[in-house]
Amino acid sequence: MSFEQQLIAWRRELHQFPELSLQEVATTARIRDWLQTAGLPILPFALKTGVVTEVGKGEKVIALRADIDALPIEEAANVAFRSQNAGVMHACGHDVHTSVMLGAALLLKAREAELPGRVRILFQPAEESFGGAKTLIRAGALEGVSAIFGMHNEPGLPVGAFATRGGAFYANVDRFVLRVHGKGAHAARPHEGKDAILLASQLVSILQSVASREVNTLDSVVLSVTRIQGGNTWNVLPENVELEGTLRTHSTDVQQQVKTRVSEIAAGFASAFNAQIDVIWHAGPTALVNTPEWAEFATTVADEAGYQTAKADLHMGGEDFAVYLQQTPGAFVSIGSASEYGLHHPAFNPDEKLIAPAAHYFAALAEKALHNI
Ligand SMILES: [Zn+2]
Ligand SMILES: [Zn+2]
Repeated sequence: MSFEQQLIAWRRELHQFPELSLQEVATTARIRDWLQTAGLPILPFALKTGVVTEVGKGEKVIALRADIDALPIEEAANVAFRSQNAGVMHACGHDVHTSVMLGAALLLKAREAELPGRVRILFQPAEESFGGAKTLIRAGALEGVSAIFGMHNEPGLPVGAFATRGGAFYANVDRFVLRVHGKGAHAARPHEGKDAILLASQLVSILQSVASREVNTLDSVVLSVTRIQGGNTWNVLPENVELEGTLRTHSTDVQQQVKTRVSEIAAGFASAFNAQIDVIWHAGPTALVNTPEWAEFATTVADEAGYQTAKADLHMGGEDFAVYLQQTPGAFVSIGSASEYGLHHPAFNPDEKLIAPAAHYFAALAEKALHNI
């Protein structure tokens, strides 16, 4: 089997047996087994799921990171190696990222004597639930690391395309819940109640004006109401309605500005309608901010490796890799995977031709970065 065939075989095996965040037990066992068979050590971190290996010797350390978890989606992709785990699918391509970094580990192992330091390779659990990076950091996986690199496949780019940017890249992710407490009443006698549905529907409209009318149009912001729930029949005005949604920003100032305005608007509405509105915020991952010098370095190495490189657009999604970059310099990059269907779609099907070149790229990037620190 060629190197490329091996990486594709591993990716397909991971794809057939996907596991949800923090349940990546069989995935972890497979990665450990493949690494050990290739003569790579498993570092003794106390991890329930996830694997960390290392190649080379010396003081200097560069880290590479792959994520290994899957999503609660029933696969609809028409492939021979379909998910065998009902209702779970590698719909974000973390199986691809894992096989890329396995490949990089093997290539670095073959050059171990030439490496002027160590390359630590992190196979991180729980990216989708946004907790895995913190778990690995707490276990000590970033100790001594001078720079860290990672990738996400980008279905909208062709194979052979590469994009990244210095500074903010992925978004701050916030989730909000607005609980509107009105007063229930007979639908024919609304004056005896406080119409929570009317109030909630007006809230949805006015919330849109925060992003469109209050934030500088040159700043990136998305506020989406994604769930509205209340009432259960046709002739009763419900007492409560709940709204849920998400806010995406790249600057913490804009994030704070929008959060403050949402609270003020909710309070104003509640007072005007003599109702009560609770605003609950759940913080997701913070914005992913690439170190400009390392983003440029990663792009130069990609150019040398034959990628079509470009400056990436701002991404409104969240990415757990942000947590590493809060502590350690580095860069996260996009590599084209040419899938007709996007990330988290049941028919997502990345082109496997990206895997072997990306493995060569990350091995080269890590080795060159070791020479550069
Ligand atoms: Zn995802
Ligand atoms: Zn992902």
